[in-house]
Amino acid sequence: MQKIVRVKLSVEAYVREQFHKQMRSPSQCPNCGRFHRLWALGYYQRYTTGLLGKAIAFLVRRFRCTYCRMTVSCLPCFAQPYRLVNHTTLEAFLKGRHRGRDVEAQRDLLRRYLHRFVEWQPELIDIIGHRFGRASPQEDATAFLRRAVAICGSASELTVHLVEQFRTTCFKTYRCHQVSFAR
Ligand SMILES: [Zn+2]
Repeated sequence: MQKIVRVKLSVEAYVREQFHKQMRSPSQCPNCGRFHRLWALGYYQRYTTGLLGKAIAFLVRRFRCTYCRMTVSCLPCFAQPYRLVNHTTLEAFLKGRHRGRDVEAQRDLLRRYLHRFVEWQPELIDIIGHRFGRASPQEDATAFLRRAVAICGSASELTVHLVEQFRTTCFKTYRCHQVSFAR
């Protein structure tokens, strides 16, 4: 499973401080709900974009639950689940701040994300209902996404909220956010 962990660091600082080593085990297993059962398992590498929009490798800490045997990876909240561009850059793009170097460097990918969101929005609404209020017929998908980000306070908080409350994300529902009772 994947848990999004709130950290107050950029990816640059996370890498510089080797913060993956300080990532504590979540007290509660997101799969079986038991407490104090997660033990460090190791790390895996993935990428997100940094301040200038370039891909930066970082390590994600993994744990295993001694009760349900599920592995839990702790993704720091600057990164999006399964998407390269970081949350801050995504948010700047959504707010129309297109002149930043990070947005400029990833503009094509960000446009693809937005197309994906437009396709995904009806399914997302089925999942979350009126969590962000009733959309008016005039409101397009981009405006809706911008509003959801504003209500949550940031794009990363929106993702944390969607994963924790609805087991989905801004773009897709992933298996790694679902509970499995296999043991
Ligand atoms: Zn468990």
